[in-house]
Amino acid sequence: EYAYQYDDQLAHYTANKDPYNTKRLTLIAELSRALQDNLLTLVFHPKIDLKQGRVTGVEALLRWHHPRFGQVPPDEFIAVAEQTGIIKPLTQWVLNRSLEARHHLATRGFDLSVSINISTNNLRESDFTEEIYKTLERTNTPPEKVTLELTETSMMHDPVKALNALEKLHQIGVRVSIDDFGTGYSSLSYIKRVPAQEIKIDKSLILDLDRISDDEVIVRTTVNMCHSLGFSVVAEGVECLAVEATLKQMGCDQVQGFHFTQPLPLEALIQWLENYSATQHSFVFDSTTQQ
Ligand code: C2E
Ligand code: MG
Ligand code: MG
Ligand code: MG
Repeated sequence: EYAYQYDDQLAHYTANKDPYNTKRLTLIAELSRALQDNLLTLVFHPKIDLKQGRVTGVEALLRWHHPRFGQVPPDEFIAVAEQTGIIKPLTQWVLNRSLEARHHLATRGFDLSVSINISTNNLRESDFTEEIYKTLERTNTPPEKVTLELTETSMMHDPVKALNALEKLHQIGVRVSIDDFGTGYSSLSYIKRVPAQEIKIDKSLILDLDRISDDEVIVRTTVNMCHSLGFSVVAEGVECLAVEATLKQMGCDQVQGFHFTQPLPLEALIQWLENYSATQHSFVFDSTTQQ
């Protein structure tokens, strides 16, 4: 875990208390270069519809394999990207690669939606909506096939600005998802006003859902409340069958988690999708022949 908190204001940063100081400075210096040199890659994590057991989409997640540090966790370098302004070209890169990957998947018979994580810093860019619109056009992507994920916590830094920017994105037809829900301090009256279609319950509430009764109560209530407000509900962090079954029983719409697969590079994802749809098919066949 982090020994210190990244802050919006570098003025609050106290270097002598920060054991990752040199690493962080190196990351700052090298991230922009890594982006130019194609050292960053994307992996894709399937989203599964619980009722039908079908894969409906994938979430794009960044990976940086650093020559000295090995895999740098995205939580770590995204914070750096936000502080240095690299987040703008970085998000644009993710958007381009993700929509190209979606197109490639569609040509291979998997017409899926794609989810992209964005930073609230992106919402402050005056041309963000226009850039998304252009990328949709260039890659021939129907806007409803794209979901932008924003964390609940980041939205609360500037709730009014976030609402205005999301309203514009809503108008071009992309979907909006509130990520890591349940870890921030947003009020329900605010969430109700966000032009989002989806809520993703944070994995901290999901991981031990089958064993922690408080989590069970919180998640069950959240699923019901979000449904009443018209949101589709996704649970992230499903690592075992027991949790999947509990969520299904609660009426949760979609799941993501290592129980199904780790996030995968594009070609490995295609193989996984081919296997998964074959298994699902035989499962349906088995259950009908048993009766
Ligand atoms: P997130 O958007 O909430 O993504 C979910 C994280 O949970 C991913 O971690 C994923 O690998 C992990 N996860 C999914 N299922 C399970 C599970 O069953 N068990 C456990 N233990 N973990 C699971 P990852 O890839 O390390 O990403 C961490 C965060 O970094 C993301 O959280 C997101 O906030 C950020 N991030 C990643 N890629 C991007 C990007 O392209 N742009 C931006 N702005 N942020 C990104
Ligand atoms: Mg996400
Ligand atoms: Mg999340
Ligand atoms: Mg997260």
